[in-house]
Amino acid sequence: MSWVLAIGGWAATFGTLGLAFALARGVEARHSAEDSSTAEARAEMQREWAFALIYLASAALLAPLSVWVCSRGMAAVGGHPLLYFSAQGWVGRLALTLGYFVLMDIIDYAWHRASHSVPWLWAIHSFHHSSTHLTVVTTAREHWTAALLSLPVRATIGLLIGIDPTTVVFATWIWSIPPRLSHMNVRHPWGANPFVVTPQWHRIHHSTRPEHQGKNFAVVLPFMDVLFGTAYAPQPDEYPATGLASHEQARFFDALVWPFRRSWRAVVERLRGSASGSEA
Ligand SMILES: [Zn+2]
Ligand SMILES: [Zn+2]
Repeated sequence: MSWVLAIGGWAATFGTLGLAFALARGVEARHSAEDSSTAEARAEMQREWAFALIYLASAALLAPLSVWVCSRGMAAVGGHPLLYFSAQGWVGRLALTLGYFVLMDIIDYAWHRASHSVPWLWAIHSFHHSSTHLTVVTTAREHWTAALLSLPVRATIGLLIGIDPTTVVFATWIWSIPPRLSHMNVRHPWGANPFVVTPQWHRIHHSTRPEHQGKNFAVVLPFMDVLFGTAYAPQPDEYPATGLASHEQARFFDALVWPFRRSWRAVVERLRGSASGSEA
């Protein structure tokens, strides 16, 4: 019966995600930050849906691998968490949940910074940044290799820290809401606030403008950017164009090959550079 549970779980996940996307698309249609009716925007939207479906399907298929990596990680440390936190009473449980929130946000911030500074991680993450028209669907525009890496790493860290499963499930569910909405094409107030990353705050991170490069990495708490010196508070009307600084765009086939194509190109350019350097 486990396959019935697995299919039921996937159907529930895709169902709620589809419903959230449909509701968010309705809000985007009424309060858009940029025109989404142009031919270019509509073509990008079609790619966005295709990339998101491929990523979500690959993430679902790779979930058993995360479970296997976690079990190996736990076995390597003797089957017990390295740390263990528990709390009594609702005040203690609330404090523990909030502490877990903040810890996971620090880990996500560090992973995101590394995804921009480590070349082979950027080769993967740049697929997400190649979107030229952000919408709620951009949330799931990730390369399948990102799921291959981040799911096992995050799951293993969660297990090694050792917090009771109810707290982990609740915290992860609540924590997944702001990142899902942070790519919405929506004009709104309170773009700069210390409590939650808004679509305008994250749009700055996707901007092509030089003054926005290396800013607003936070996944849920903008406070992380303030703490680590990467905050850029947008002006009320600041909704810049998005995409890669090189203006390179992804094609349908890139859903499979993007990081490998970019890495191969980087190697060829380096070889050409060293060859021309030796000729000079
Ligand atoms: Zn990024
Ligand atoms: Zn993003």
